[in-house]
Amino acid sequence: MAKRTVKDLDVKGKKVIVRVDFNVPITDGVITDDNRIQGALPTINYLVDNGAKVILMSHLGKVNHKDAEKLQADMASKSLLPVANALQKLVDAKVHFVASTRGKELEDSINELAEGEILIVENTRFEVGETKNDSKLSEYWASLGDLFVNDAFGTAHRAHASNVGIGSILPSALGFLVEKEVEMLSKAVYNAEKPVVAIIGGAKVSDKILVIENLLKTADKILIGGGMAYTFFKAQGLEIGNSLLEEDRLDVAKDILEKGKGKIVLPVDHVIANDFANPTDVKTVDVDQTPKGYMGLDIGPKTLELFRKELDGAKTVIWNGPMGVFEKEQFAKGTIGICEIIADLPGAMSVIGGGDSASAAINNGFADDFSHISTGGGASLEFMEGKELPGIAIVQDK
Ligand code: ADP
Ligand code: MG
Repeated sequence: MAKRTVKDLDVKGKKVIVRVDFNVPITDGVITDDNRIQGALPTINYLVDNGAKVILMSHLGKVNHKDAEKLQADMASKSLLPVANALQKLVDAKVHFVASTRGKELEDSINELAEGEILIVENTRFEVGETKNDSKLSEYWASLGDLFVNDAFGTAHRAHASNVGIGSILPSALGFLVEKEVEMLSKAVYNAEKPVVAIIGGAKVSDKILVIENLLKTADKILIGGGMAYTFFKAQGLEIGNSLLEEDRLDVAKDILEKGKGKIVLPVDHVIANDFANPTDVKTVDVDQTPKGYMGLDIGPKTLELFRKELDGAKTVIWNGPMGVFEKEQFAKGTIGICEIIADLPGAMSVIGGGDSASAAINNGFADDFSHISTGGGASLEFMEGKELPGIAIVQDK
């Protein structure tokens, strides 16, 4: 059943608590990438325009509650104040910031909010109970508002007080950002137009086993690249040199190869190097020609051609995980090549779920070539595994 969205709520004059994802990178007090703030603007502006009193809550980074000194340092460096300043420049409404997560100042400021004004609560993780979904904390935070909107996809796979806790108490709805994530990911994973081709890469098989198993149910082909391919090669008895290997996943790899017969496509050639940190000898060879002492760090041109053929005619493409060590230019060609192939596919719905693959596509200029690039790394991964995300499950159905 479809979840309620902000449009299903009567927000005029109401105190609306919105869980946003303002977990942005900050260096020396400067926000280096404000994508996540931009992403929350449609929901924030809608609420402002419709006369809500908007209370924004988010975490920022990790906060160490086990060590008093570290806690103090985190509380000094992980304040949401720079985010409040940045948001003020992006919206027409007044933005208030309260440097606490509870207490009289916060309560008074909320009670003094005018319709169409915004208040940002300090970093939710300054509360030790946040990540424990502490019921007292959830009740307290819920008491500050009338309605709850979840617009933080990046934390939807976690049951914390500021999403699941508040959401289980107040009337709730999804924000526009999460609505779009759910719509696009559901379409790709559960209601995809066939043929469906999934591309799975990244470092470890262990991270992606559940994704592969779930996608095997719906995908016509699964193209595998990246470091995880080597555990499959090893399972097939190939020499893989010093390439990434998860010995304890060889049986799982064998099992997946068996289950996915006819569907799973592995690389045929790869770029190998004699050293990871300081590669002095880099060459491209077929996967059955890997010399001892070398490691595979990217897919090769024959593989890109093979993958291009497999993707030809696809109506749905789901991509998770880079094809190589794309952070180094030398080993980025496979990942960029996949971006180019997908960009050239006419009429296919294409979705990226996965933090590193998303940033590879965005940083190489392919942001507009995909139907959807998920904002949640871990959350999109769990969605593709077929798991229910607690931050979404808690939101009321229409
Ligand atoms: P995503 O975040 O998109 O889900 P992952 O986190 O699973 O992707 O994997 C990304 C990481 O995998 C990158 O840091 C990349 O360098 C690494 N990687 C890809 N291919 C290889 C390889 N052949 N050897 C070692 N690491 C690899
Ligand atoms: Mg990653």
